[in-house]
Amino acid sequence: MRRILIIEDESNIRELISYNLKNNNYEVLQAEDGLQGLEMIVTENPDLILLDLMLPGMNGLDICKDLRERGSKIPIIILTAKNEDIDKVMGLEFGADDYMTKPFNVHELIARIKAVMRRAEQRTEEKYICIGALTIDIERHEVGGHFSSDPEQPHPYHDYRTDPTGNSGQHIGCGVFYPCCD
Ligand code: CA
Repeated sequence: MRRILIIEDESNIRELISYNLKNNNYEVLQAEDGLQGLEMIVTENPDLILLDLMLPGMNGLDICKDLRERGSKIPIIILTAKNEDIDKVMGLEFGADDYMTKPFNVHELIARIKAVMRRAEQRTEEKYICIGALTIDIERHEVGGHFSSDPEQPHPYHDYRTDPTGNSGQHIGCGVFYPCCD
């Protein structure tokens, strides 16, 4: 079951969204201020975040920016009042995936959540990393490619990727590849 974290200080909006998400078979997590929200992103690793902008503790823009700067790709949909600067929110600097202005139609919100999740899942299906002549199969921890370095010497490799919060260096797996001459 997909898990959605709602970071929103207005309890009536949280409850409205939560009720409708549960009816659509999502698991719902709730945070009522920015700092609690950030903590729950780290501990709960949600599949998507609904993020209010004006929050006590830490505002939504700073949360969004912080996650993206750390390399996190968790899909984020911003919930914002009409008078806030959408262009700024949606700019590459902050990296949100979509936004909705309040008051919003909750059915439209659910439709957007589904669309954003579909796009995110397509991204994760890209399971190969190519670096020059080197191809890494992320799932199988295998390396392919042609190398002109010492053909007798197998090279150990380690697969380090970013964890959901963008902290790099999580050890995913390791193996050995054998170089060959072109
Ligand atoms: Ca708010």
